[in-house]
Amino acid sequence: MAGQKAYKIATLGSHSALQILKGAKDEGFQTIVVATPDRVSLYKRFDFIDKVLVIPKFSDFPRYEKKLQEQNTIMIPHGSFVAYLSLEKHKKMKVPYFGNKAVLDWESDRLKQREWLEKANVPVPRRFKKAQEIDAPVLVKSYGAAGGDGYFFAKNKTEFKQKIKSFEPKNYIIQEYVIGVSAYVHYFYSPLTKTLEILSIDRRYETNVDSLGRIPSHNQQGLGIEPSFVVVGNSPLALRESLLADAYEMGERTIKASQELMPGGLWGPFCLEAIITPKQEFFVIELSCRIVAGTNLFINGSPYSALYYDKDVSTGRRIAMEIKRAIKTKQLNKILH
Ligand code: AMP
Ligand code: AMP
Repeated sequence: MAGQKAYKIATLGSHSALQILKGAKDEGFQTIVVATPDRVSLYKRFDFIDKVLVIPKFSDFPRYEKKLQEQNTIMIPHGSFVAYLSLEKHKKMKVPYFGNKAVLDWESDRLKQREWLEKANVPVPRRFKKAQEIDAPVLVKSYGAAGGDGYFFAKNKTEFKQKIKSFEPKNYIIQEYVIGVSAYVHYFYSPLTKTLEILSIDRRYETNVDSLGRIPSHNQQGLGIEPSFVVVGNSPLALRESLLADAYEMGERTIKASQELMPGGLWGPFCLEAIITPKQEFFVIELSCRIVAGTNLFINGSPYSALYYDKDVSTGRRIAMEIKRAIKTKQLNKILH
């Protein structure tokens, strides 16, 4: 397959790079990782990485794009693209990019993201516009917050009014705190076959909320512990099967709404980050429009991807499979931006 050999798959060295490049190699591509000097020794350990392109820091990436373009590279975005490159730099990337950049503006603005989910009829937690409206426990989220940093919890209106005084960010939303367990559903939508797959599911492991239950509440009294949501890892999750139907349908509606809201709509990997209540209702707290780190649990496939494929398919590998199919059927323009 000369055509396929000619393309190389690259990503930034962080987040889910190992999964993405392992998947690309398993599908027969040459692979490149773009890494900062401190990560070179990590990425050199693995045979499935053909080349390590060293750059001083991730934000210097635009200066190295030409090198990648000359090598017929396809870039796969992940969480670090959003975290380390500005939205503008991200949008201006010139290397062919797997995914639709039109989704970035909708995803990065919390209010637009909410509009998208509401249009898709995906349940979202209630939002309070003013302190006066608060009638439930709330989580206050600054706009740029990532990985649970920049949040605070208030159990009622009075506590909100007191805590907001020392909260620095100016832009934030006040959301009802949904009591339930988290489930992060990893989807893949193929614009080539127009099908949606659930490839895997994880739950996040966050400090300190995921440990507070270890100390009985009467022992906690007086300690002044504030809940925090800083992610430190992920665990795999098999969803109660009766909830799966809902999960598929929410994913499908998210894709359909995206096609109505933005040219081309959303494609490739995405994640609906949900809290499931005792009534078995999903509340989606966030939509992530690319591969999420929780998929790293499934480098050798998952119970869900096994339902579609007789080989071990991670989200990273699934991306490479889509690119391979597009090359074979001459439809690369449909999946790259
Ligand atoms: P890192 O490469 O670890 O600096 O992460 C890049 C971005 O992805 C940051 O915004 C992190 O908050 C996010 N991230 C990294 N690992 C995870 C994870 N396991 N779950 C959720 N988000 C993550
Ligand atoms: P996010 O950065 O939006 O993914 O949220 C980080 C973490 O905060 C989530 O993984 C949840 O544990 C928690 N969280 C966010 N929004 C809510 C909510 N409305 N209700 C309950 N927990 C939430």
